[in-house]
Amino acid sequence: MTEMPSIDKKKCNRCGLCVSVCGCGAIVMVNNVVTIIETEDCHWCTTCEAVCPTGALTCSFEIVIEESPKTDS
Ligand code: SF4
Ligand code: SF4
Repeated sequence: MTEMPSIDKKKCNRCGLCVSVCGCGAIVMVNNVVTIIETEDCHWCTTCEAVCPTGALTCSFEIVIEESPKTDS
């Protein structure tokens, strides 16, 4: 299962900002309700969470960047 952002529909004011910033079409408005579509195209950019003015949208995933171990060469 692909890890996707989640929306607290009680907090969502349907401003549509998350829909317009998501470049992969994972967030759509269906009958005036914001809906997340599970897709592997979501690249976990967390932009949708960042633009949400009400804190309704949460990206539960974390992106961990690990440094390559140093090699003595
Ligand atoms: S994390 Fe990025 S790609 Fe994934 S749904 Fe949000 S805006 Fe779209
Ligand atoms: S940005 Fe937040 S408040 Fe606006 S439609 Fe998306 S989830 Fe709802």
